[in-house]
Amino acid sequence: MMAHAEIHQDRTVDAADLAALSGRTIAVLGFGNQGAAQAANLRDSGHTPLVGNREDSYVAGAREEGFDVRSIADAAAAADIALLLVPDEVQPGLVRDEVAPGLRAGDTLVVASGYNWHFGLLEVPDGVDVVMVAPRMIGAAVRDRYVDRHGFPCFVSVERDATGHAWDTTLAVARAIGGTLGGAIVSSAREEAALDLFSEQAVWPAILDVVRTAHRVAVEAGFSEEAVLNELYLSAEPAEVFAHVAREGLFGQLGLHSRTSQYGQLRSLAALDEQGELAARFARVMHDDILSGAFARDWSRPEAGERLEALHREAAASPIATAEAEVRARLGS
Ligand code: NDP
Repeated sequence: MMAHAEIHQDRTVDAADLAALSGRTIAVLGFGNQGAAQAANLRDSGHTPLVGNREDSYVAGAREEGFDVRSIADAAAAADIALLLVPDEVQPGLVRDEVAPGLRAGDTLVVASGYNWHFGLLEVPDGVDVVMVAPRMIGAAVRDRYVDRHGFPCFVSVERDATGHAWDTTLAVARAIGGTLGGAIVSSAREEAALDLFSEQAVWPAILDVVRTAHRVAVEAGFSEEAVLNELYLSAEPAEVFAHVAREGLFGQLGLHSRTSQYGQLRSLAALDEQGELAARFARVMHDDILSGAFARDWSRPEAGERLEALHREAAASPIATAEAEVRARLGS
């Protein structure tokens, strides 16, 4: 059972779509990782935006680059299309206090991640379109890949079509920031947020647990911390392997390993139960924690920041982290 998404590329975004930006004032709210990159790309595409930011060092950078910089409230009020590019955790308060008061019916709010909108944390006035243009790329590379024309993947969606032409605006913004060079995949705030959270809460904890468990078992078997940690990750070999996975495929890259390694990997993988405990755990994370909104409610609690600090302290005091610090000190790395 395969579900495929529609993909928009430069050649499928026509002049009519691009006209959605003509005569409309664009504002980039926040001049950080994504904001600085998307503002530069918009300008090079012929749609110079206003920049909205607090008066600080980011503002100096934006002015040096020749942008018209205003307060966030002023830029939002002047904009017909506002790109919300401040950190996710500050968006609900900032939209409520500074952005929403300046938005009028017919304007468009563009989010670069689906989390806050999907979980109901953004209060946007009626009559305002809400769309998502979410690069799957860090800000610096959003700029570099626009300049070298390599492009980057991007998720796009219309979340609220109050005007009836929100799709035109979405595709035009995606194209102007370089998002249709690599391919703008039609998605939704729900899908973008859920997949992001799923990687963070299912996939990466499982990988971290694999490394932590492998360390414990190998050390208990009598092998040295130096040998074990270098085998597991200090050598950066896993990073090399993952780079090849991206280029040559999950199994295509196996040809780079010895035949002994290939046999060991595939023989052990075949013995694992695909429908086993891991699949059940991943399904629980997806449905019970993420899609139910339980995680979002937990992370919205005022005490959640303190809990994050406590979890950091706990991780830093764990056996593998302690061993890593000692090995790094001995290796001077
Ligand atoms: P950044 O952390 O780089 O944003 C920094 C900007 O936000 C600065 O302009 C900063 O201004 C401003 N800002 C920070 N706190 C406040 C505040 N309390 N009030 C007003 N302005 C504030 O954000 P990102 O670019 O990383 O993320 C922006 C959006 O893009 C998010 O929705 C994120 O999920 C999404 N995204 C990010 C990606 C990434 O790789 N970083 C990838 C894809 C999407 P000041 O100088 O005033 O602090």
